Amino acid sequence: MNNAEKSIAACPVCDHAETNYFVTKNNYSFNQCNECDFIFLSPMPDQNELNEQYTDDEKVAEPTYNKSGSRLRRAFIKLPRFTPYAFGKKTLDFGCGGGFVAYALSFIAKSSSGIDISENAVAYAKQRFKRANYSCMDFAQLLETNEKYDFVYSSEVIEHVSNINLYMKTLAHLVKKGGYAYITTPDLGHPKVPKNIIEWSMLCPPIHVQHFTQKTVDILFKRHGFKVVKFYKHKKPGLIFLSQKL
Ligand SMILES: [Zn+2]
Repeated sequence: MNNAEKSIAACPVCDHAETNYFVTKNNYSFNQCNECDFIFLSPMPDQNELNEQYTDDEKVAEPTYNKSGSRLRRAFIKLPRFTPYAFGKKTLDFGCGGGFVAYALSFIAKSSSGIDISENAVAYAKQRFKRANYSCMDFAQLLETNEKYDFVYSSEVIEHVSNINLYMKTLAHLVKKGGYAYITTPDLGHPKVPKNIIEWSMLCPPIHVQHFTQKTVDILFKRHGFKVVKFYKHKKPGLIFLSQKL
């Protein structure tokens, strides 16, 4: 590693000053925090740059929902897991894509909403699933609303966002005190992640800009007023956890 590759970027998760060059893929370089294991693009592209992937070329974000049957089936299979926290409650799918999970939640929730940054995704959801309410909003717009939810589902979102602390601030704004956030993201700490990290298909910058472990999300969620109450076992390298807003 030469001096040009060294970076003094502080860790966005734990504020530790020391992060080191980790790996380069697709011409994007990741740094890793010595303290909390977080890996993140350095330099980090800004959100507008990342959003272009979802507006200019929808195929990158969602392959036109050509597996919509299995997406819908998987959404309904998850309902028993959500029921203790979402039954009769006000629920939100934060980063809802085509609206499959918000639709499934509408069968157990008092009210079910979905929010996404992609206009195409929201248009698809609105047209197909009329039982739930869908809207296209960004973090700044969400922070201006006063809507609060008992249960927020946010799947495969946190690895995409440029400013993880802005995402967390928005999540904390959206979840009622005592309410729950159910999060999924690739699991950098999973035993099935290839030893040669370059071979891991989930490491795909700039689509995924950062990766987490159990330790990382514990620190991050605590900083933003949540307590991680449960990690779900998963055979594949996916981090699935439930957190409660304190
Ligand atoms: Zn850190």
